[in-house]
Amino acid sequence: MPNPSTPPARPDKHDPATLAFQSQAVHSGNQADAATGAIRTPITMANSYNLPKDPFTLDQDNPDLLVYTRESGANQLGLQAKLATLEGGEDAVVLGSGMAALYAAFFTHLRAGDHVVVSDVTYSAVWRLFAELLPFKSGIEATFVDVTDLDAVRAAMRPTTRIIHTEVIANPTGKTADIQALADIAHAADALLTVDSTCTPPPLFRPLEHGADLVMHSLTKYINGHGDAMGGAVIGPRELILPIKAEAMINVGAAISPFNAWLISRGSITLPLRLRQHFAGAQRVAEFLDGDPRVLHVAYPGLPAHPQHELARRQFGGQGFGALIAFALDAEHDTRNAFVNSLRLITSAVSLGHDETLIVYEDAAAARAAMFPEVFRAHGLLRLAVGLEDPDDLIADLAAALDTALPTP
Ligand SMILES: *Cc1c(COP(=O)(O)O)cnc(C)c1O
Repeated sequence: MPNPSTPPARPDKHDPATLAFQSQAVHSGNQADAATGAIRTPITMANSYNLPKDPFTLDQDNPDLLVYTRESGANQLGLQAKLATLEGGEDAVVLGSGMAALYAAFFTHLRAGDHVVVSDVTYSAVWRLFAELLPFKSGIEATFVDVTDLDAVRAAMRPTTRIIHTEVIANPTGKTADIQALADIAHAADALLTVDSTCTPPPLFRPLEHGADLVMHSLTKYINGHGDAMGGAVIGPRELILPIKAEAMINVGAAISPFNAWLISRGSITLPLRLRQHFAGAQRVAEFLDGDPRVLHVAYPGLPAHPQHELARRQFGGQGFGALIAFALDAEHDTRNAFVNSLRLITSAVSLGHDETLIVYEDAAAARAAMFPEVFRAHGLLRLAVGLEDPDDLIADLAAALDTALPTP
């Protein structure tokens, strides 16, 4: 007999806790407009909101009040609520770009004299923050380590270590971190684990459920998904998000535009549907590249030869392995450019997580790439961000460009 005191939760669009992920992606953060009855949250393009009759009654400790758009806007609040739901966090702060969000978290939770342990492969602007800018301008020290070597991570910890920072699947080399293991090391040292999950959006992975203290996203990428707006977010417990709002959001700035927050809210509706296609397409493209003798190396966690293939399968529950592929050609510099320039479907442009497939030929000899696998340092790195086109079309385009640039004798 079912217990009548605990009926199954009836799905209610106003209560995300009753909804499965795919339904949350459609409904959470959206509110019908009371003034017109429009069933989608309208775009509120205003810098300022009416003050109460006595402005002294405003709760100065609440950064979510609608007063001034650098602090909060109606569209930003809706997107924050949605991202907190999708990541399984208590609260979220949304800012104007992924870097604004990452910097806001570091600005708020680090001070001069603190030490940070950082993955040796991260997004380039994050590498530069820790390698050059924060040490020089803010007196924050950083040690770069291979986060797949847990003994090396433990050895890098100091009494002043406040944060371990990593990506889940690292941009661009696909190095995959064991988030629970890193969280355990951080917490044993009273440090925070901050995780840039841009390349592993939910439902693929939810770092907060695996011990991470804060999750960061470049919303510019998969969560918006259409290559037409920038944004960034930090998600986590209220006690860690509130100070980011009170300090970095209000005093440093970098507010998101209401229009971009609205675009990202709309783009994220199809996130779970798009991710399935991104992952399926990337797996096929990676296998094609891996089978071509003119391709020296393919780094993709979905290939059995990838050093963290088993970890990735376990950690992502078999849902997929992301959609970022790094590969190297058996070719000189000019031939690599000729290959990219012969592509007719795939676009040469930075960024990732767009509907269209993008490729970048990166200089893997730069200082930032010191820890990249040797094959990329010697032969250059081509980063392919697989989009939503038919994988057969993508493979045909890559095959034709290989034949043009590297004809087999
Ligand atoms: C793009 C990216 C960022 C930066 O995000 P922006 O929105 O471009 O500022 C940070 N981390 C990763 C992993 C990224 O791919």
